[in-house]
Amino acid sequence: MTAFWILLFIGGLLYLAYRRVPLGATTLAIGAALVAYTAFGRGAPWWLALLWTGFGALALLNARPFRRRYLTKPFLMVYRRLLPAMSDTEREALEAGTVWWDGELFTGHPDWSKLLSAKPPRLTAEEQAFMDGPCEELCRMVDDWDITHRRADLPPHVWDFLKKKGFFAMIIPKKYGGLEFSAYAHSCVLVKLASRSATVSSTVAVPNSLGPAELLLLYGTEEQKNHYLPRLARGEDVPCFALTGPRAGSDAASIPDTGVVCRGTWEGREVVGLRLNFSKRYITLAPIATIIGLAFRLQDPDRLLGRDKTDYGITCALIPRNTPGVVIGRRHFPLNVPFQNGPLSGKDVFVPIDAIIGGPKMAGQGWRMLVEQLSVGRCISLPSNATGGAKAATYASTAYARIRRQFAQAIGRFEGVEAALTRMAGATYIVDAARSVTTGAIDGGERPSVPAAMLKYHCTELGRKVANDAMDVQGGKGICLGPKNYLGRGYQVVPVAITVEGANILTRSLMILGQGAIRCHPYVLKEMNAAREKDKAKSLREFDAALFGHVGYTLSNAARSCVMAATLARFSRTPHDGPTRRYYQHINKFSAQFAFATDMAMLTLGGYLKQKEHLSARLGDVLSALYMASMVLKHYENQGRPEADLPLVEWSCRTLLYEAQEQLHGFLRNFPNRWVAALMRVVIFPRGRTYFAASDRLGRRIVEPLMMPSATRERLCDGIYKTVEPGNPLGLLQEALALAVSAEPLEKRLRVEGVKTGRITALDLPGQIEQGASIGLLTPVEAQQLREYDRKVMDIVNVDDFAPGELMAGVQAETGTSARRHIA
Ligand SMILES: Cc1cc2nc3c(=O)[nH]c(=O)nc-3n(C[C@H](O)[C@H](O)[C@H](O)COP(=O)(O)OP(=O)(O)OC[C@H]3O[C@@H](n4cnc5c(N)ncnc54)[C@H](O)[C@@H]3O)c2cc1C
Repeated sequence: MTAFWILLFIGGLLYLAYRRVPLGATTLAIGAALVAYTAFGRGAPWWLALLWTGFGALALLNARPFRRRYLTKPFLMVYRRLLPAMSDTEREALEAGTVWWDGELFTGHPDWSKLLSAKPPRLTAEEQAFMDGPCEELCRMVDDWDITHRRADLPPHVWDFLKKKGFFAMIIPKKYGGLEFSAYAHSCVLVKLASRSATVSSTVAVPNSLGPAELLLLYGTEEQKNHYLPRLARGEDVPCFALTGPRAGSDAASIPDTGVVCRGTWEGREVVGLRLNFSKRYITLAPIATIIGLAFRLQDPDRLLGRDKTDYGITCALIPRNTPGVVIGRRHFPLNVPFQNGPLSGKDVFVPIDAIIGGPKMAGQGWRMLVEQLSVGRCISLPSNATGGAKAATYASTAYARIRRQFAQAIGRFEGVEAALTRMAGATYIVDAARSVTTGAIDGGERPSVPAAMLKYHCTELGRKVANDAMDVQGGKGICLGPKNYLGRGYQVVPVAITVEGANILTRSLMILGQGAIRCHPYVLKEMNAAREKDKAKSLREFDAALFGHVGYTLSNAARSCVMAATLARFSRTPHDGPTRRYYQHINKFSAQFAFATDMAMLTLGGYLKQKEHLSARLGDVLSALYMASMVLKHYENQGRPEADLPLVEWSCRTLLYEAQEQLHGFLRNFPNRWVAALMRVVIFPRGRTYFAASDRLGRRIVEPLMMPSATRERLCDGIYKTVEPGNPLGLLQEALALAVSAEPLEKRLRVEGVKTGRITALDLPGQIEQGASIGLLTPVEAQQLREYDRKVMDIVNVDDFAPGELMAGVQAETGTSARRHIA
């Protein structure tokens, strides 16, 4: 009987918490169980008294005035003392953008209908025509070796084409002459360009991302928009945006550059303006830019702006290149991917006050403008470039692994190479899913700031892994640079992507969880805002609601975490019953575990969690893994659930969810308070670590369809530049791959019936083909087919060589030609 009652109480409590039954209903249910126990349970009087006292305390929590006065109020006073001061810049960063699927993952109980009901992203007819027309044409005219080695710049006709066809105006509305593309279309353009040339895709990405056009669109005055946007759309103005300087890199809010409000002369008249002093570096497009978006700290010592303050903080303005005092034109050389990038500085540069983007009313709003922009820009530029690079590398490497033979076998059939190709294909699937689903959400009205940080970090890191594996698979072919090399520059550009728009170590350690824990958490921001509220009664009321909501949420996540871990989440609800059902269930489980662990970390470490970067990075990894796995599931749905892609979905989800588990484990192992860590471990891993990574056998099922012309191969690498034509290695590899399917049986015949029997003695394939044809082992048609195949394969496998002098970088007589030409 005792066991029955214990089970009833514990099971009942777990059920109530698991289902998130509200406090009032929970109290009634516990009361009813206690009445039954008192009547039939034969408990000792002291024990019954204890239980009823506990119940009384619980019942009192339902009396709001009582609990506010005696519980919430004292707690609020302590909370206010502990609440770290938040600077304006920190608050602005936190409030930027919207909370989307990231918020659902933070609840520990994600509502899948919110993700799955979103329409799959699609290109409009006009966007598709741009992809098939100008985008293809641009890829065809690009010679990456010429760009990266010979001229260290795009050739003039490519620059002109980019400007004329609107590549720099994808985000500018049509009424200003731009293309007004969706975020998804913008991303697809970058994917295609990145598969052809990292220099071109980086050049195109910047004006469409963080920079003057976007800032003007969101915050510019009508006059500024009408003046600049048509010029930017037509390519008459080339923009750059300068934030970073020698002293302020990652900590961009600490820029020492100043703009002092003063009177000065502008076009012959005395006006109120800004005297700017700045030193910037690493600025993309700066050497050729005609209009500079500049971030600086605004000071108004004489209060000329008419407000009661002198220090405004970060402000953004637009400065024409030819303004006296601006020093611009020199170039940096970013790792052999020579997109235009360089330093710029200014001494006592004077511009009228209207140069501030949005006019004087936007003085001091610069940081908010920049972080708001980041919520969209970071979901598009670098994730799309990483996706294009990953798709191209996977498309090339899987074909190469089939046509390149060693030990009389296609190298892709060796398990070691197969493992590398599996990782590449899986990572490509993940990044493609993440960028396409997230850009689709942007088109649906979201500005997802935490996913932007996750995408920036994980797409570029997965891109780095793909680039490494591609190099390993293709060996010397990838290493030796020259016109025939199609991997080297993509490999070299990886650290650039890792560093820009928030360097990755910082993004992982500080931004993902740092922003997510407050922004996406269902209660933390509400508690903070309530504690800062000036109206005391309102503050107490709102803090009380948030606090008790938070307590219920933490208890519920503990219960959900424990129950789902114990049952391997088998009874967790899923949106449908298909073959992906278990991944939904495991995401539900990890979501509860993550939410519980994060709450415990915040509760016990408070603001110190921000400094414990090992811990917050690990929790950020868990959140990211859940986010990316959700994107994979949605992508699979968006593509119409193709059964052939299930191995890729399985590999992606298993890899990500295993990572989530291992990072949670690492978090618990390193949590400083060992008692709390032990408690968390019981709740999170009551049966230990039960989730397994993808099996080795899965690799064969993934790689085999990719090493032949197949629908899966085309779907995975959709949207890259793979037109079969001379000069396009991706097209030529695909052509050779298609020939390999019919050539391989002929090669096998030569080997088995010719070489092994001693009838053929030649050591290489051309010789064997000739002998095979002469002894009748191959018909003349077959011999010709095999000769053709071998020629195409060797065209691909061969690398370039140079006379020694050719590789010596001489002093260029015409330094600065490019800059002069653009500015003219
Ligand atoms: C090719 C290129 C193009 C660029 N284009 C532009 C542009 O157009 N406009 C512009 O304004 N800027 C641009 N940048 C600047 C870019 O945004 C910065 O390089 C970046 O912010 C990092 O600054 P840093 O290189 O000075 O590195 P640092 O800030 O010195 O950082 C060095 C390392 O320390 C890590 N780190 C720093 N703080 C922390 C922390 N709190 N926790 C953990 N790790 C931390 C970083 O992650 C990084 O790994 C560009 C840079 C490059 C290289």
